[in-house]
Amino acid sequence: MIDQSLAHPAHQSTPSEATEDLEHVGSIVPRALKLSARLQRGITLAQERFEEITRIAPWAWSVPSCGGDRRYVVDLKHGLCPCPDHPPEGERCKHVSAAAYKKAKTAVCHGCGFRKRHRELYEVGGDNLTFFAGDLLCKDCARSHGVL
Ligand SMILES: [Zn+2]
Ligand SMILES: [Zn+2]
Repeated sequence: MIDQSLAHPAHQSTPSEATEDLEHVGSIVPRALKLSARLQRGITLAQERFEEITRIAPWAWSVPSCGGDRRYVVDLKHGLCPCPDHPPEGERCKHVSAAAYKKAKTAVCHGCGFRKRHRELYEVGGDNLTFFAGDLLCKDCARSHGVL
């Protein structure tokens, strides 16, 4: 008998928003970290300060501290952050978790290059002259290129 839960983990039941968030971030940070308190604090930080978390270089993300009076530049490739928190082996601080969360929840618009939430992006169909089918466009770009 085939184990359906392995083949289609997302289709087992209707996951709550929180579970979905952990699923997304779980693809970037190791699965073992799913339930760590730091990861959950990172998701909370990302949800509260979503627009302030910005990608400044290919793997470098600028993340505000919880108090908001300083920022940390985290290295998402290696999971490193200069903050005072020293997570144990295999864990990441909340700033790295927050950056991973924003990366997982957003994608780059092929038109303007800005990073937008998945739900604000529209997929280009096969008949567009400017973009490839499957490219993602934000609302403004979708409008100006006849996708919406
Ligand atoms: Zn940190
Ligand atoms: Zn755009």
